[in-house]
Amino acid sequence: MLTSICGINWGDEGKGRMVDLLSEKFDVVCRYQGGNNAGHTVINERGKFILNLLPSGILREEVVNVMGPGMVIDIKHLCGEIARLREGGIKISPENLKISDRAVITMPYNVLQDCLEEDRLAGKKFGSTRRGIAPVYADKYYKKAFRMGELLNPERLYKRVADIVEWKNLTVVGGYKAEPVKTEDIIAYFEEFGKALAPYVCDVGLYLTNADKEGKNIMFEAQLGAMRDIDFGIHPYTSSSSTIAAYAPIGAGVPQLQLDNSIGIMKAYSTCVGEGPFTAEYFGEKAEKLRQLGGEYGAATGRPRRVGPFDIVASRYGIRCQGAKEIALTKMDILSGYEEIEVCVAYELDGKIIEEFPFIDVLDDCKPVFKTVKGWNCDISKCRKKEELPKEALEYVQYLEEACGCKIKYVSVGAERDAYIEMY
Ligand code: GDP
Repeated sequence: MLTSICGINWGDEGKGRMVDLLSEKFDVVCRYQGGNNAGHTVINERGKFILNLLPSGILREEVVNVMGPGMVIDIKHLCGEIARLREGGIKISPENLKISDRAVITMPYNVLQDCLEEDRLAGKKFGSTRRGIAPVYADKYYKKAFRMGELLNPERLYKRVADIVEWKNLTVVGGYKAEPVKTEDIIAYFEEFGKALAPYVCDVGLYLTNADKEGKNIMFEAQLGAMRDIDFGIHPYTSSSSTIAAYAPIGAGVPQLQLDNSIGIMKAYSTCVGEGPFTAEYFGEKAEKLRQLGGEYGAATGRPRRVGPFDIVASRYGIRCQGAKEIALTKMDILSGYEEIEVCVAYELDGKIIEEFPFIDVLDDCKPVFKTVKGWNCDISKCRKKEELPKEALEYVQYLEEACGCKIKYVSVGAERDAYIEMY
């Protein structure tokens, strides 16, 4: 059984928290795209963990975790993340962590390029997280990248370094007039961080194919939401990879397999990190109140997130792109402090009402159309059954279900593992 857990919105929907919860039912959890440019926060009985690269299943001892070929891996960051989790008592070994030989390595010069470009853009920047993600994906498609499997044959790998460094310096020195990248530094970097990770590297596609044959339950975990997908998101304010569920089997190394289910993680209100159109955005006091209530600051960067009410237009589009069959609605408890709750039901463009998510250029001119629904104005964080939810909260869930055209199976009312309600 293959299930994808994907983000419906702009990211930070609480995917990490839902994967941590749902991973109980799965034998394998795979990450299939992206790098350390986003963070999942997971709180469970062992403490609070921020995961940038490792799949969320790493926090459950019996789950095998896979980092797929669609990922870009900063090996220094990964070594640090593994060390931090070990300090927290989490066991990590080649038994429960398998890294694809085909995954691409994010290099220090990719991070440098990302910073140089953001600095060059100054006021016009895209809001890159400066983790080298766009440059490394560019190198991948240029076919001038290093892959994890090469760490298993350092002698051969080191012979390739000088050529790549020479090519990279055409940009770093020639274009940006920065200090040159040095071959010996890159080799020393591989020595320090590559060797430590080599034991985890394998053909994860073969592992997953066999796991599937054995009837194991496999989960694919997305790192970013639909709106950040390179093709279907708000390009160019997107990530550099495919975040959608349909890409999961490819990015995980099993292109021959098909998904059985796609669970969309959708937040009870909207948040967006960085630049780009965000039609339903709140400003001023309204924004500050929601940001404070929701603790909306980026896990990887600490940046304050832009916030707004639930956006039906964008969410319906997100559900379509993800092919979501059921939804987990997160952070419902955050809306407890409102007597009335606003929802963005449509966009207005030149006096016309739009209900389908438009091409990005058009978004700039769209104004949100808000509707107000009744809030419940009481604490729901202790509710564990549908019957315990106040009538208005139940009505909010049903309203979103109908408006978005997808069943809401889970409602999350807190960050802790057990703080959720199974609706059916
Ligand atoms: P992700 O990248 O989609 O995993 O999302 P983040 O980890 O960036 O953001 C989700 C944040 O909200 C984390 O701090 C979670 O612990 C927290 N969280 C998730 N679900 C809930 C919920 O239902 N209620 C509350 N109060 N917090 C939640």
